[in-house]
Amino acid sequence: MRKKIIAANWKMNKDVNETSEFFTTLQKELNGYNGTAEVVVCPPFTALQTAVKAAQGTPFKIGAQNLHYENDGAYTGEISARMIKSLGIPYVIIGHSERRQYFGETDDTVAKKVKKALSEGLKVILCVGETLNERDGNITEKVLERQVKAALDGLTAEQLKSVVIAYEPVWAIGTGRNATPQQAQEAHAFIRSLIAKSFGNSAAQDLTIQYGGSMKPENSGELLSQPDVDGGLIGGASLKADSFAKIVKSSPAAK
Ligand code: PEP
Repeated sequence: MRKKIIAANWKMNKDVNETSEFFTTLQKELNGYNGTAEVVVCPPFTALQTAVKAAQGTPFKIGAQNLHYENDGAYTGEISARMIKSLGIPYVIIGHSERRQYFGETDDTVAKKVKKALSEGLKVILCVGETLNERDGNITEKVLERQVKAALDGLTAEQLKSVVIAYEPVWAIGTGRNATPQQAQEAHAFIRSLIAKSFGNSAAQDLTIQYGGSMKPENSGELLSQPDVDGGLIGGASLKADSFAKIVKSSPAAK
C-alpha cells in the first residue's frame, strides 16, 4: 500500500507563538487518530525550530518550504539543504508554483534543488501543475511531463523513494476552485504513467502523489478517495488546526 501524506504548507504565515498554539491544538484534534496518513507541517523558516520542538513526541513531521541548491556562500537571504537537515527536519517542498511564479524558479533550478535535497538526505515534496491557460490550451499533460522529467532527470529508482509529487494545478491554488476529483485522478494517473516509463512500474506504484489546490474539509474526502490520490498539500485550510485535522481524518484508511 502506498504511503498517504497530508501536508500543511503555511506559506508566509505564522510567527513562533502561533506555531506553538497550532501544534497544541493539532495534538488535541488528532488525539486518538489511528488512520494511516502521515502528517507533515511546513512552516516558514523562522518557525521551523519551534515546530520541531513542538512536534517532539508526536507523530507529526516537519518540512521546510524551499532551499537553495548551494551548500553555503554569498547568497543573502537563502537557506541550504544542510542547514535544514541540521534542524532534524525530514521534508522540504520544492518547486511550488508561487516560487516559480514570483521568485523566478525554473525547471533547471528546481532540478538542482531536488538533487541537493536528496544528497543531504531530505525527502522532497516536488510541486508540479499547469496554469489555467495551459489547461484551456489542452497542454496540461505536456506541461506536467516537462516539469516532472526536468525535476527527476538522472535520479535513480532508489532516490525516487525519497520523492513525493504534489500535483497542484495553479488555477486551483488559493482560488477556492479545486480540481474536480476526476480532473485530479486523471492528472495523477498521468503522472504515475510518466514515472512508470522512466523508473519502472514498481517505482510508479510506490510513489505518493498528493493533490493540492483549495483542498478543504468539504472536498477532501472525495479527492482523497480517488485511486491515484495519495494525500494532500494544503495551503489556506491548513492554517487552522481544526480544519487541517478534519482533512487528515477524511483520508480513507485503505483504498
Ligand atoms: C498550496 O499552496 O500548496 C495550496 C495548495 O494552497 P491552497 O490550499 O490554499 O490552495
